[in-house]
Amino acid sequence: MISSLRKAAAAVLAAAVIASGCASGSVPAQTSPAAETTSAQAAAAETTEKYEKGENPVRTAEELAGKKVIALTFDDGPNTGVTNEILDLVEEYGIKVSFYVVGQNINPDTAEVMQRAHSLGCEINSHSFTHSYMNEMSAEDIKDEMSHTAQLIYDTVGEYPKFFRPPYIAVNETMFNCIDLPFISGIGCNDWDDSVSVEKRVRFLTEKCPEGCIILMHDAANNEKTAEAVRQSIPVMLENGFEFVTTSELFIAKGITPTSDGIVYSYATENGMK
Ligand SMILES: [Zn+2]
Repeated sequence: MISSLRKAAAAVLAAAVIASGCASGSVPAQTSPAAETTSAQAAAAETTEKYEKGENPVRTAEELAGKKVIALTFDDGPNTGVTNEILDLVEEYGIKVSFYVVGQNINPDTAEVMQRAHSLGCEINSHSFTHSYMNEMSAEDIKDEMSHTAQLIYDTVGEYPKFFRPPYIAVNETMFNCIDLPFISGIGCNDWDDSVSVEKRVRFLTEKCPEGCIILMHDAANNEKTAEAVRQSIPVMLENGFEFVTTSELFIAKGITPTSDGIVYSYATENGMK
């Protein structure tokens, strides 16, 4: 059963890798996660205690009952520009979104942005340490990517990541065996490609995202078009009755317990697919 699900997921992924490869110039780092983590951990520890650390409350199934839930998620941050612009909207509208952060992007300045996100009730999840093709890595390197990023996130916001988004949505059996977080993909509009206009992004967000889905966007440092599209789309989506929830809350609302066993979720359904 699992094996056939994996095959189905792999087929979908083959297309997804091309469609949502987030080729946003995140060049795999040459330095090891361990070397970079030490300085980044020090950076996280140095940030002022402006924001409270710890477990964020998660809404219950009862609190989410009857709501038209949708999970808006952002990859490739944190940074002090676009991530903060998204957070300004989160704050203005009182909504929750999820960030899938790249460990090597965490430094004293971006750590504070992560803390701001966490303090606004957003969920901070893992998008690896170096943003490399992890399906080409050894088991040991995969585990290093995950543990260093998880520890950095914990040191920064006081909560471990609950979900993992594979870079380029590239996955294999070794990754499923080594990573004990549910794998999350989502539906996107190639917003890592600068040639996709703001109008197209807005149309995608306001017309193509169904209830129960995970929306995969990118808060990469230069992605102003996505910040603008989200700015235009949130009021329309709220008008359309959507409730913005974290990745955790999406599954809770749908009564699904996501597994880390060979499924890559784009929707809060049993097999991750619509
Ligand atoms: Zn990415």
